[in-house]
Parts: sequence; structure tokens; C-alpha cells
Amino acid sequence: MKFADRLMQLGTETAFAVSAEAAAFASKGNKVYPFHLGDINIKTPQNIIDATIVAMNQGKTGYCPNAGIPALRQALAEDANQLRSTHYTMDNVAVQPGGKPSIGKFIQALMNPGDEVLYPTPGYPIYESQIEYFGGRAIPYGYREGKDNFELKLDELAASITPRTRLLIYNNLQNPMGAESSAAEMQAIADLAIKHDLIVLCDEAYFEIRYAGKSTSLASLPGMEERTVLLYTFSKKFAMTGWRLGASIGPRPIIDVIAKLNVNDESCSNHFIQYGAIEGLKGDQSGPRAILDTLKERRDLAVKLLTEMPGVHCYNPNATFYLFPNVTEAMKRAGTEDYEVFRRQIMAATGVSICTRRHFGRPLAGEKDRYVRFAYSGIDIDQIEEGLLKLKAYLDSL
Ligand code: PLP
Repeated sequence: MKFADRLMQLGTETAFAVSAEAAAFASKGNKVYPFHLGDINIKTPQNIIDATIVAMNQGKTGYCPNAGIPALRQALAEDANQLRSTHYTMDNVAVQPGGKPSIGKFIQALMNPGDEVLYPTPGYPIYESQIEYFGGRAIPYGYREGKDNFELKLDELAASITPRTRLLIYNNLQNPMGAESSAAEMQAIADLAIKHDLIVLCDEAYFEIRYAGKSTSLASLPGMEERTVLLYTFSKKFAMTGWRLGASIGPRPIIDVIAKLNVNDESCSNHFIQYGAIEGLKGDQSGPRAILDTLKERRDLAVKLLTEMPGVHCYNPNATFYLFPNVTEAMKRAGTEDYEVFRRQIMAATGVSICTRRHFGRPLAGEKDRYVRFAYSGIDIDQIEEGLLKLKAYLDSL
């Protein structure tokens, strides 16, 4: 079979391969502690399920408008405005089958082949994949360890901007690092975007997965609403990963193009679950509150246990459901510099299954420290305790 040349540029989420490996390991009768999953093992709130079933029974089972049903677009605009002090109307919202489609559609709408797009690494691997698949030049920017969390290497980001740089992908409340910009860092990003006339995809998948404080959006800063597209998703806040519902929210001309891409790609997002989503946004909020309480308990325990491990340094991020500890010393103890060797060694010895930095985009030149990602969204608290105590005992034994 001769495939299209452009497929040479298409990346993937290699974390799915870790899931397959963990499943194969478990099928041999081994115990697995699934810290590799970015999925959520908590049920979607009942009021959302009920509203969706009602919509199905009412016959909301045909096609719906390409950009989403007006009531959901309106509810999303109001929700975004309330949390971000923006000025969106339903015309600024294109409903998507998940948050992920916003990435490729943003790039298709705004990037010409050869244009340069800044993106974070470590970061969500689909940015790199989609930029290159559509013929752009993926220009990475990185992070360094700060006092309480990771910080953007703003100096390097600024230095990598050229006359060909057109877009910036920014994921505050970051996967996999749990990084969160300070007000100064976010303002610096806005200043760069305005100075160099960059359009920004602001991936806010974890905007409302936070345990203390308040999230701030880049779109709230002066001059940014008109050059920012927000990636919104129902996946995380409402534990709806498998429902596939999200939205692109941004300037109307871009949203109109994205809606036209919807026509070409999927016609419309699933019709009846959009009614469930309205209930999620406007109805009883005890469901998402309980999800956050569960995640916070898990975070507190996981951070405590990771911090007690030899050769491991872990921040305590206020947002996302990821931890990204520095394991440089632990890997030295384990006698390897190879991420895959370390990951497999840990799984074989303890059943703890994780992703490593290698699953989150190409490494930057000169990266020396080693990091792995623990996701605590797909594992119950008793299993977190059991698994991490086994991991500690293993690292202690080295
Ligand atoms: N953006 C980030 C940073 C993510 O981590 C994810 C999912 O893990 C997504 C976007 C897309 O998620 P979904 O397509 O389920 O909304």
C-alpha cells in the first residue's frame, strides 16, 4: 500500500501505546496502577446524563447546525464571559466533537505551509503533529524549574520569533507539567503576541480543574480577545472524555472558518449530548464540585507520597490532574538514562504505569534533567497509595 506523503509528518499520542502495554501486562495476571491515563475514572454527573436521555427521547437525534445548537453556543459564550470577563456572543462559538479538534482546525484556518508556529514542549503531542501535518514549521519553546512550579523560558521563546512566525500555541494549566503562568508571565506572552501580531490558540482544557485560587485567561488581557481562540472542553470538568464535546471560542471570522471546517469534517457534533452539556453549564453544579473534591484528595496524597521518594522532586500544582516530578536522581539509582528502560523497569517491579517526558513532544536541545508524568485522574485513592508505596519501596531498595 502506498500512503500519502503527508502522512510522514503526522504524529500521534504515544501515551496510548503505554495503555496497550499496561493492558497486556495486566492480562498476564499482573497488578497495574494506571498513572499513565489522562482519562477520568469518575462517572459523568447524573443531571447531564438525564438531560441527554431526555433529549434523545425528544427526538434530538438528527443533524443539528454545524456550529452547534444555538442554546449551547449561547450558554458557552455566557460561561466564558463570566469566568474571563470577555465579550463573546454565540457567534464566537463553534461547538466541536471534543477539545482536540480545535487544534487542527485552528491550524488549518490560520497557517500556511512554511509558516512558523510556536508550541510548548513538553506539551500535548498533538500540537507538534498537526503543525507539521499541515506543512508548518513547529518551533518549540520550553520550561525551567521555578520556585513553586515550572516557568516558561520566555527569553528563548522571544528569541525564536521570526518574520515567519504566525501562530502561538499556549497551554496554561499545562499537560503534562501542571505549569501555571504567573500574571507577569501571562502578560509577557500577551505583549509578545501583540508586538509580533501572532494569533494564539489558548488551550484551556484544564481551566476549571483547579483546587485553590482562580484561573486567569490570556483572552482577558487587553488586546488579546481579538487575537485568541480558546480551546474549551467538557471532557475534564464534567468527566465527559468519552462523550466527545468541546468548542472553539474566539473572533467571529476565525470561528466562521472553523464552522466551515466542521461542515467538511463531521457535519455537526453529536446532537443530543449538546442538551446534556447545557445542563452541565447551567444546572446543578454539585457534580463538577464532587469531581474536583475527589481529584484534590488524590493530588494531595500523590504529592505527599512522591515527595517522600528518594531521588524524586515534585511540585504541588494547583491545577490539572498531572504531576511531573524530576526523577533524574531516581533514574541514576535505577542505573539508566533511558526513559523507556526506566518506565518498563518500574512497571515490571511494581505495576506502576506512567508516561515519561518522551510522550510529550520532541525533546529540546540540551535537556538534561529527566521527568515522568503521573496522572491521578484514572486511579482511585487506595490504589494511588498502594502503588506509590510500592514504588517508594522499590526506589528505596536500589
Ligand atoms: N488539550 C490538552 C492540554 C489536553 O490534555 C487534552 C486531553 O488530554 C486536550 C486538549 C483534548 O481533550 P478532549 O479532546 O478530550 O477535549
